[in-house]
Amino acid sequence: MMDDPNAPAAKTPAPESSASDGAATPGALAADIESRLDSLLLDIVALAEINSGSYHPDGVNRVGDRMAELLTDLAPDQTERIDVPPAQVMGTDGVTRPAELGSALRVQTRPDAPFQVCLFGHLDTVFAPDHPFQAVKVDGHHLAGPGVADCKGGLVIASEVARAIDRAPWGSNVGWEILVVPDEEIGSNSSKPLLAAAAARCDLGIGFEPALPSGGIAGARKGALTAHTLVRGLAAHAGRAHHEGRSAILGLARLIVELEALNEHPGVTVNTGKIAGGGALNVVPDFAIASYNLRVQDAEAQRWVEQRFAEVVTESRLTIELTWTSARPPKERTAALQILLDDVEGSARELGLTIQAEDTGGCCDGNDLAAAGLPNVDSLGIVGGGIHSTNEFADVGSIPGRTAVVLEVVRRAATRADR
Ligand SMILES: [Zn+2]
Repeated sequence: MMDDPNAPAAKTPAPESSASDGAATPGALAADIESRLDSLLLDIVALAEINSGSYHPDGVNRVGDRMAELLTDLAPDQTERIDVPPAQVMGTDGVTRPAELGSALRVQTRPDAPFQVCLFGHLDTVFAPDHPFQAVKVDGHHLAGPGVADCKGGLVIASEVARAIDRAPWGSNVGWEILVVPDEEIGSNSSKPLLAAAAARCDLGIGFEPALPSGGIAGARKGALTAHTLVRGLAAHAGRAHHEGRSAILGLARLIVELEALNEHPGVTVNTGKIAGGGALNVVPDFAIASYNLRVQDAEAQRWVEQRFAEVVTESRLTIELTWTSARPPKERTAALQILLDDVEGSARELGLTIQAEDTGGCCDGNDLAAAGLPNVDSLGIVGGGIHSTNEFADVGSIPGRTAVVLEVVRRAATRADR
């Protein structure tokens, strides 16, 4: 049986806890983690100093190995490395090529327990092996380095949450699975089947993406789409026969102006992120390509912009190929999500912390899990900022509080499910 949700957690007996493991109450848990903070800091530094750019499978796998090591004392029922299919990467020549990825890591405990929680995150970062940002600087509890917030600090919190669930007096009723994918930063296309399977098995998702810069968590998240327009023209000598050519670059330029005009529609943003084309300067260019990142507030906005893209391309009368290569559906503030957001805010308050939910344009695996039917809060990782830049930092001092909040959120959700 689960605890009465209204009973103060502090009164809960902790039969399995050893003398002072501190797992009986969220406050005591925070104090216990506080006492081990220096070693957790070193764990984050070690994870962050392994380069795990999304297209660096060896590094991604080494982070997976290290993450699995962090969990071995928990004696999980199953630890699996799961291969995923290669990513499909659109080149500036308009050709899609496969790129090998690292493996996902899935660690499960008590898969037959009545309540299942998926603790999710990712192994990859946006920093390739040749990027200058590779080392971590430590200043007290302040870390500056690649992936310290996004999301290697979060991976360490996930392992602490798993540890805390195992020790909690109600823990035998809760199974957890840690699912960390190798390709979140490039849209998780190759991991989508793993996310869908986790959504089908679990009752609650907790994601360890970094907190918002305010320390808050993400409420609704926009969806993200990737599109490419490949424009083909007709090559001709730029001096002798300019009039015989049809410039793909000029055609693409006009097309981009039309597609960017879709930004006037509410709930939709279109960002032309990359263009390429042409070659020798004395040739009318016969090929040009643009790639776009689109954000959509809800499913209706997604349908609208996908349709408008197709219409603009058709109406242009150029020879254009429109390709969509990835999509994360919008994560809307459903009633189920709102209950969890309230749980986080309430649990934080009990611990003397302030965590507020804010809607954001960023997206993550929480979008896909929500679309697959798993209610989840996805930004309960470490407090930090500057992510995806060389200013990335994380505050190790936030780990005890974040872990305690997550433990209480899991307890509340499991208790509700048990009624
Ligand atoms: Zn992330």
